[in-house]
Amino acid sequence: MDRAEATGVSVMLEPFAASKSRPEDWLAVLCRDPRRAVEEEQIVCLVCGARFRQLTNTHLRGHGVSAGEYKQRFGYNRGRPLMCHALSRLYAERAVQSGLASRIRSRPIVADPELRRRGGMRPVTLEELLTRRDARRAAGRGGP
Ligand SMILES: [Zn+2]
Repeated sequence: MDRAEATGVSVMLEPFAASKSRPEDWLAVLCRDPRRAVEEEQIVCLVCGARFRQLTNTHLRGHGVSAGEYKQRFGYNRGRPLMCHALSRLYAERAVQSGLASRIRSRPIVADPELRRRGGMRPVTLEELLTRRDARRAAGRGGP
């Protein structure tokens, strides 16, 4: 509403709107909670701020990082698909249909040499911390 804008409240509630003049601030906001960079129809590249349906290896290579390095750098879970939610769902449905899902459900420690190397330890990602925190808060309110 107009009143909110006059008080400056809308700027705090809408970092996307505020970002247009200062993209680096807006990216910093997303970096604090990288889950927010993944939206229903688009995913924001946290390096350059460009928006895509899917963050391709080709694009990431332009920044000199692999998908794995990108996830590590910004605190995404290792299994996080670098694509918008709509596309992610589409691929998940296709995977189930083709029977791929059952193969993916193998034990990561067996399939992933990197995990074996670290003796089964895995770092807790920022994404995981934020998700756990949200879950605790939701539980504190008596659930959604
Ligand atoms: Zn980029």
